[in-house]
Amino acid sequence: MGLIVQKFGGTSVADIDCIRNVAKRVANTYDQKNNVVVILSAMAGTTDNLIEMANKVTPAPNKRELDVLLATGEQTTAALLSIMLQSMKYPALSMLGYQAEVVTDHTFGNARILEIGANRIKDMIKKRKIVVVAGFQGCDTQGNITTLGRGGSDTSAVAIAAAIKADICEIYTDVDGIYTADPNICKKARKIKEISYDEMLNMASLGAKVLQIRSVGFAKKYRIPLHVRSSFNEEEGTMVVDEDSGMEQLVVSAVTHNKDEARITLKKVPDQPGVAAKIFTPISESGILVDMIIQNTRAGGQTDLTFTVPKADFVKALEVEKKVAGEIGAQDVFGDKNIAKVSVIGVGMKNHSGVASIMFHTLAKENINIIMISTSEIRISCIIEEKYTELAVRVLHTAFGLDKD
Ligand code: ADP
Ligand code: ASP
Ligand code: MG
Repeated sequence: MGLIVQKFGGTSVADIDCIRNVAKRVANTYDQKNNVVVILSAMAGTTDNLIEMANKVTPAPNKRELDVLLATGEQTTAALLSIMLQSMKYPALSMLGYQAEVVTDHTFGNARILEIGANRIKDMIKKRKIVVVAGFQGCDTQGNITTLGRGGSDTSAVAIAAAIKADICEIYTDVDGIYTADPNICKKARKIKEISYDEMLNMASLGAKVLQIRSVGFAKKYRIPLHVRSSFNEEEGTMVVDEDSGMEQLVVSAVTHNKDEARITLKKVPDQPGVAAKIFTPISESGILVDMIIQNTRAGGQTDLTFTVPKADFVKALEVEKKVAGEIGAQDVFGDKNIAKVSVIGVGMKNHSGVASIMFHTLAKENINIIMISTSEIRISCIIEEKYTELAVRVLHTAFGLDKD
């Protein structure tokens, strides 16, 4: 008898028929003498709709109240699946984040899990119940409802799997595994049979949203094997595991994209010690995460400085920098939301030269202008105009020999 955590994403619970499909899969696993804990997302589109509704009231809704609102999406699907399973005569029971003892910090909208008690889940498993947990939500130490950031049900699932020492955590989604690029935009992408936690961490951090990055961190820390697979067919998906997958020999093993960033430029900034600190301290104090930074020196003791922030924080970051620009005497501040980041990733890049030049040539051939570049030992990222994202992913995938036959 195994202990299996099954997580179903938004498209897998998009309507009652989908929820029935999920119930059958869960029941089947239970019938095979396994104990099953299910973690659910909200129905596809629900979280976006709830955010939109709150934004109709005010462009900057109170973050605590927004989390109370967003948590209803997962509450709905957890209750519906439990009702569905009970109607099929299975002993199901739904739990919200606080009932599953998912304790988080106080960062509304992007809370971090501090610990998971899971005592009630463990008790229920002993009684052979099927526990259905609302993903994405937790509760801070003062009893406030919190949410774990977009895509956070993945993290709920892996963290609960760790807390109850599950044998495996299955992530059911709308694609049948992890691919060398997003299969929805690159038809020639290849399915990866097995990938290491570290490789998946790189992919997730550079935009492969098939798994929320924190979920991979948890899986690695607690050695939870993940199986990413489709809820619409029986095919084997991708295993995310500890061992090396053999992908290390590849110079480039995946191409990712991220449309969630925006850029901000400060023009003619005085080139003096301490200026960068003045620019970035208020940004970090506002809780905004900066990704890429580029500084160009001009003649006359001035520089231009460009950096990227999450699109959701664009308006706030621009506001903050307009104030800073006045204080430090920068000439102008402007921004652009219509950008995307494309990255090529590969551990094998460490020992190879020429990857950057292939990437730049490939983009140039398509007349795609590179706005910013950043590199590390194992990846190269370019910021380009958002409208070229799909094209860039496809041509890079081909250029680095990743296309399937
Ligand atoms: P869920 O609602 O099930 O959590 P998500 O939309 O969060 O689903 O994640 C699945 C999506 O991730 C896929 O539909 C796909 O478009 C996208 N994706 C991006 N990069 C990859 C990749 N390398 N492999 C597989 N899917 C990817
Ligand atoms: N419903 C949340 C979201 O859309 C969490 C999740 O689906 O994982 O981001
Ligand atoms: Mg997701």
